[in-house]
Amino acid sequence: MPRDVGGADSQDTLRIGPFTLRNRMIFPAHLTNFSSGGTITEQHIAYYEARARGGAAMIITEEHTVHPSDRPYEKLIRGWDPAVLPGYRRLTSAVHRHGTRILAQLNHNGAQGSSMYTARPLWSPGTDPDPLFREVPMVIGEPEIAELVDGYFDVARRCIDGGFDGVEIQCSQASILRAFLAPGTNPRTDHYGGDLHGRARLLLDVVAAVRAAVGREAVVGVRLSGHDGTHGGIDIDDAVRVARMLETTGHIDYLNTSVGVATETLHLIEAPMATPHGYSLFVPDAIRAAVSLPVVGVGRFTRPDQVRAALSSGVCDLVGAVRAQIADPDFARKTLSGRDDEVRPCIGCNQECIGRVGLGRWIGCTVNPRAGLESEPLPRLRMPGLRVLVVGGGPAGLQAAATAAERGHAVTLFEKETSVGGQIRTAAVAPYRGELLAAVESLEAQCRRRGVDLRTGVAATADEVRAQRPDAVIIATGARPQRPSWAGESPRVVDVRDVLDGRAAPTGRVLVVDDLGFHEATSVAELLADRGCDVTVCTPGMIVGQDLGLTLDMDGWLRRAHEKCIDRITDVTVTGLTVRDEGLDVSLAHHPTGRTRVLTVDGVVVATHQEPVDEMWTALVESGIRVSRVGDAVTPRRAHAAILEGDRAALELGV
Ligand code: SF4
Repeated sequence: MPRDVGGADSQDTLRIGPFTLRNRMIFPAHLTNFSSGGTITEQHIAYYEARARGGAAMIITEEHTVHPSDRPYEKLIRGWDPAVLPGYRRLTSAVHRHGTRILAQLNHNGAQGSSMYTARPLWSPGTDPDPLFREVPMVIGEPEIAELVDGYFDVARRCIDGGFDGVEIQCSQASILRAFLAPGTNPRTDHYGGDLHGRARLLLDVVAAVRAAVGREAVVGVRLSGHDGTHGGIDIDDAVRVARMLETTGHIDYLNTSVGVATETLHLIEAPMATPHGYSLFVPDAIRAAVSLPVVGVGRFTRPDQVRAALSSGVCDLVGAVRAQIADPDFARKTLSGRDDEVRPCIGCNQECIGRVGLGRWIGCTVNPRAGLESEPLPRLRMPGLRVLVVGGGPAGLQAAATAAERGHAVTLFEKETSVGGQIRTAAVAPYRGELLAAVESLEAQCRRRGVDLRTGVAATADEVRAQRPDAVIIATGARPQRPSWAGESPRVVDVRDVLDGRAAPTGRVLVVDDLGFHEATSVAELLADRGCDVTVCTPGMIVGQDLGLTLDMDGWLRRAHEKCIDRITDVTVTGLTVRDEGLDVSLAHHPTGRTRVLTVDGVVVATHQEPVDEMWTALVESGIRVSRVGDAVTPRRAHAAILEGDRAALELGV
């Protein structure tokens, strides 16, 4: 039955099933890759407990598979294995200590997986392979369906035995239940196919089994896709009708929502920086208007005001914020107490959360150097109050200063530019990359709150550093671009940093050389195309911006490159440059065939490797002062390495 659609405040409590949640912010399911042997680890426990301590009203863990036929990745939690039970108990009691409810998400990935781990065929309603895994699945019949439903029943019961407050049934990103629901993946003609009622039958069977398993003293929710974004996928009208069916069963206590399919349209699920905040709130909005169950809204919430706006506008009853709470485990507590300025915001970079997980590594975070490391105790501090001098105010230096000050040291930071931020501030100039700035603004604010003496516009020499008589120096002087040997002295060949910092403004035909395979070349290509340049990007790789696939930026980049008429040349290396009055002749060698071609342009912008700025390190390393160096000053890498090393170096002071 539809209800009066009214708004709420983040501090409001909410009844779901037998429980009252203490506020409106939850930590929804997402892969962590912390599992070992298919069970819960200490890394899981410390990670989830930190978000419980940080104020989340409810945590929904990553998926627990309900059947041995399902293992799309190495570190899936095997809910069907009784060996999980001791870990369940340790996890749930750790979370409950903080007044947070915890549910387990139950799932079977169906054809969205691989038989590599199980050596058993994939299960699916039809034979269509998933476009990412490209493996033809086995069509399951009544015996397998019965086994599957039993699997949900058994694992739901085990979760309750393990202390969970309930379970969430995934019928969204990567789920056999979603595959049954979607017309494009369910060609069946039996009573598990056909119209929406037939296609929803398996979901409803599972819901009934799970409720029977957990009884009325536990919560049962369903995470429902509201927009798969695929041909033949679930759309919002289907989702609203299924939501009504679920409510009618009387077995469901809340509905969670999502958009996207974890393989074909993953960029819709973990939307990158270029995607507007709240982009998927049309789903809970439509569902909430159709049912009276509490509805969870998700959609790249990174700031407290976005949470409050979603709740007060009435589009959802609960806000699910994953990345906001990875970046800042205390996000909920800070939101509740109005300490918005203290939030360390997620910047939507996807580098260390989804990007790392996609490589089979455990989850981390670019802006939170301790994400994923919550189970490792910090070094014991024996000597607080050291006088610490940090040289360089990029991400590594800022993090080092913020951590050192947090540990009780007296910190001064010298930055030669007029503002801190280093290369992150530079990169944030590019289209769709502005949110990067929040990473350094947040660090700068942490430094100021903790009393760091931030001195900008100070290009300190080694003698001036010595004159400060510090107990310890942290060198975070960054890196400088290396000019490629083929570029010669031509002023019409510049680095991406020259363009972003405004020192160079190429016009006409511009070649952008992508040696790095990340945002450097693609961002500048877009910036120049926006300014009216005729842009071509070339790369030695098989694809321009190769690593954008990992962070789910690839779809957006390809679409915008097409719209902006940016040409791409792949598998080529620049081998030479001839400067003529009418243009630059750039020689490109196609490395698979050895063929060469010449491209004539008006300017070249290179996104290429850097070298450390380490003169200060060299001058001080044998000075007798305790000196460490961090980030690009050691060797140039991405922002996470810089922030992690800044944190570590500061933690090692005074121990
Ligand atoms: Fe957000 Fe980036 Fe951290 Fe992921 S790695 S949580 S996107 S800041």
